[in-house]
This record gives sequence, C-alpha cells and structure tokens, in this order.
Amino acid sequence: MKYKINEIFQSLQGEGHNTGKNVVFVRLSGCDLSCDWCDTKYHVNFTEMTEKDILEKVEKIRENKSVIITGGEPTIQNLLPLLEVLKKEGYWIGIETNGNNLIKAEKEYIDYISMSPKSKTKLKNVDELRVVNDNITVDELINYENEINAKYYFISPLDDGEDINYKSTIKLLGEINEVSKKQWRLSLQMHKLSGIV
Ligand code: SF4
Repeated sequence: MKYKINEIFQSLQGEGHNTGKNVVFVRLSGCDLSCDWCDTKYHVNFTEMTEKDILEKVEKIRENKSVIITGGEPTIQNLLPLLEVLKKEGYWIGIETNGNNLIKAEKEYIDYISMSPKSKTKLKNVDELRVVNDNITVDELINYENEINAKYYFISPLDDGEDINYKSTIKLLGEINEVSKKQWRLSLQMHKLSGIV
C-alpha cells in the first residue's frame, strides 16, 4: 500500500488529554473537508511511502513505542496495512480525525481516537472530542455532547493564522460548564505556546 505522507516527526503531543505524551507523528496528506483556517500545505505536499517505509522511518526517530496518525484527514486512506505493521511491532497508536468517516476494522488496532468535528460526524464513539471554537455556541456544544460519546470533552481556541480567540473560548468554557452534564476542559496548543516543534 502506498500512503501520501506529509511528514513524520518525533515530538510531544501538544493538545487534549494526551498532552505531553512522547510520540512520533505520522501526518498523512489530503482531507475530505476544506475548513477556512486550514493550513493547506497538509493537503498538497506529500511523498509516497509504503507501510514498511513508514515503519522504518518511525523506528529510526522514535524515543518510545507510541505513534499518532494525523493529517490532513488520515481516514481517507486505507489505514489497515499501516496499523497492522505498527501494532505487530507493539506500538500504542492514536489517531486524530474529523469524524467524517467510520472507523471499523481499524478500531482493533487503535488505542486512542481524538475527534475534532467540523460538521456533523459519522463517528459517534471516541476517546476524546475536541471542538475548535469557530464561533461555536453553547447549543452547538450541547448537540455534540448529546450525539457523541466520549471519555473527554475539550474546547480549543481557533488559530486563524492572524489571531487566537482565547478570551471568547474561555468565556464559552464557563458557559458550557454551567449547563452541561459533562466536564468540558480547555485544550491549548501547548506545542506552539512552548515552542516545541
Ligand atoms: S478537517 Fe482539518 S485538515 Fe481537513 S480541512 Fe479542516 S482543518 Fe484542514
């Protein structure tokens, strides 16, 4: 299987429940959505690599046996061969997705699903729901929590390339936790704030 790979690098997870986790990020190219604020380089720049090429690169740079498969949107490519080789080598595997596609047979190999929805999602059961505050309302957050079963619920400020809406996001967090049965938490992009690449 040939994958369109944007980049593979070792770092610390900067967002959500696994903040600080030492992982190798495997970033796949391409997406089935086109959000206004998206960094489009994730859509267009790639090199083709097989699952064995990817494993070889991951093995060279890893500090432990954890990977996060991200994008773009990773689920638009057939992840099974890649997941199989990584799991065979004993990797903890996380995935970051927009939830637009179901994760079926792949689930057997995935240890942690983080979903950042941009519209109505097909995926309904995840470990982490991370909603970007694109002028989102309390009612929209309530809709998400009613539709999606997650262990952890996060709101992230929107970084549109010019500004980051910290203030309105913190306000929204207070408002949702006044009315929600879930415990919503703030997820900041710690890798950007701390200068970790
Ligand atoms: S879902 Fe993510 S990768 Fe896809 S266009 Fe939106 S921000 Fe970009």
